[in-house]
Amino acid sequence: MTVPAHESPSAPAAPNDHRSRALLLDLDGVLLDTRPVMRKAWQRVQEAHGVALPFRDYERHLGREFGDIMQRLGVTDTEAVRRTYEAESVATAHLAQEFAGIVETLHAFVAADWRLGVVTSKHVDRAAPLLARLGCPFATIRTPAGAGRTKPAPDPLLLALVDLEVDPAAAVYVGDMAVDQESAARAGVAYVHAGWGYGQPTAPAPETAASPKELLSLLLPARQLVEGSTG
Ligand SMILES: [Mg+2]
Repeated sequence: MTVPAHESPSAPAAPNDHRSRALLLDLDGVLLDTRPVMRKAWQRVQEAHGVALPFRDYERHLGREFGDIMQRLGVTDTEAVRRTYEAESVATAHLAQEFAGIVETLHAFVAADWRLGVVTSKHVDRAAPLLARLGCPFATIRTPAGAGRTKPAPDPLLLALVDLEVDPAAAVYVGDMAVDQESAARAGVAYVHAGWGYGQPTAPAPETAASPKELLSLLLPARQLVEGSTG
């Protein structure tokens, strides 16, 4: 099942290569701590649009697409609110910080021949600059597009796996909210909860990693961590 880590770790998967594995990751609360950005952006929405709902009401729905959140909060004039939120998010993006150990962890998965993908409900204009900062070789980045279904639907995860040519059974999704867990379950993808993120898992209790580094001990056999011995 496994591929020696020293064999062209960056080469694309060969056609019909059933040995490939994929590590799919959520962005907010998994790769980067973006809460200070979201808090600022929501404050700006409150000021500009007279929205009284506190940030804790907004963040309860993190993981969902922005329009979905607005609908759940009963906020009208969604497009104007979205423009305000996005502009402030871009202006305060420097407040986002990558989680300690996440970049090293992702490089270890790449060295073990896993393919990396990001599946987020954050729109591409806000997601792409943040991801570029990490300098990790993400082979696919799935963001909301058009009228397609978003999390907790399974579609974004399945589309990422189509991009990567990896079976759902050979993939793991790392998320931090209940919608992430639901999306993975509906896609037939194993789920690991990021204990360093913003939300709590739901039943049935998933595997939880307390830190990015713990993903390695949970998902990579020890021999792959040593020197990529043959499997
Ligand atoms: Mg998240």
